[in-house]
Amino acid sequence: MTFDPAALRAEFPILALRPHGQPLHYLDNGATAQVPRAVLDAIMRHETGARANVKRSVHYLAEAATEAYEAARNTLATYLNAADADEIVFTSGCTAAINLLAHSFGSRLDPGDEVLVSVLEHHSNIVPWQMLRERRGIVLKAIPVTPEGRLDLDRMESLLGKRTRLVALTHVSNVTGAETDVARVVAAAGAVGARVFLDGAQRAPHGPLDVRGLGIDFYACSGHKMFGPNGIGVLWGRKELLETMPPFLGGGEMIERVTIERTSYAEVPRRFEAGTPPIAQAVGLAAAAKWIAGLDQEAVHAHLARLTGRLLEGLARFRKLRVIGPQGLQARYPVVSFAIDGAHPHDVCQILDRHGVALRGGHHCAQPLMDAFGVAGTTRASLACYNDSDDIDALLAGLDDAMTRLGR
Ligand code: PMP
Repeated sequence: MTFDPAALRAEFPILALRPHGQPLHYLDNGATAQVPRAVLDAIMRHETGARANVKRSVHYLAEAATEAYEAARNTLATYLNAADADEIVFTSGCTAAINLLAHSFGSRLDPGDEVLVSVLEHHSNIVPWQMLRERRGIVLKAIPVTPEGRLDLDRMESLLGKRTRLVALTHVSNVTGAETDVARVVAAAGAVGARVFLDGAQRAPHGPLDVRGLGIDFYACSGHKMFGPNGIGVLWGRKELLETMPPFLGGGEMIERVTIERTSYAEVPRRFEAGTPPIAQAVGLAAAAKWIAGLDQEAVHAHLARLTGRLLEGLARFRKLRVIGPQGLQARYPVVSFAIDGAHPHDVCQILDRHGVALRGGHHCAQPLMDAFGVAGTTRASLACYNDSDDIDALLAGLDDAMTRLGR
């Protein structure tokens, strides 16, 4: 297997766009990654050759659609290394997956039971637990962050106790790029009998996973960050746990038998997939997972580490700029956030946009983390396999211009 970023780039039609007459330097992959032709083709093939509802009718198209949808489930099971395809629940995204978990797993928690999150979380992994606190009277605790923008795991042990039922943490931070030491979390949670959920929104795009090997209980990710479509995500859970959990949404296809008096529910994962699921999106996500798995993972990681190093080195020459997150390449993914004294991230992003550089500026749905660092927001570059050194150089040149224009 060879890895050629230029050839890879050519697989993404949108990257040929020239915003403001400039080459596009798309560095907002943490928000949404772009879609390769293989995924677009898979969706087109499905919509023109197998479009129908699933698990309902018995005609040719309905059976083709059901087969495609279940094949997508199998593909995602392989991508995550799940024990069984039934452990894959399709949702509309990572947020929906976490809400499902909070409602379903959460409905079995008692007042005073504890859920442990962290200050580093995306709001998607904070707010659903706060809402659960309102419904069930649970106690929500949060692991603080280190000055390097990592989970302060030395503080984790003291926050765990015999009432901790779930440790719900990000696998990779969408702000700092820091990777969580999962083995340590799993060992500590296991010692008090707590379950572990990882929010994999930012990790899942970077290659196949081994949820069983990680020793965790639940995992969530989003299709649109994995070079796939919008409106699709996955909640993975150990089957024996999913089987003990009640449904979240009620409706068609999640039932065994309905009478006006009572309803019995379907087996997992159907129990959690009420209504018509995102079918073409699941097919597209499966194509994306196969596309990622077909890359030379080692070469891609080395390429992204080189680019991240080049970016960190380039940023170090700006005196008024502070990187929020790990300063090196150890246990980090290619997400780099920085704050510039006296400059608003939106202004920085707007100037960079004129250079064709797409970044994200703001709180990144991580306001507790912004509070911990005493900033209102950061500017963030998040890289994908199709990025190259031209993208990094364009960002650094654009920043030179931004510094001058903003008088920094
Ligand atoms: N968690 C993390 C770490 C994320 O980065 C995001 C997306 N920014 C989400 C959860 C939510 O994903 P989605 O909006 O696709 O549901």
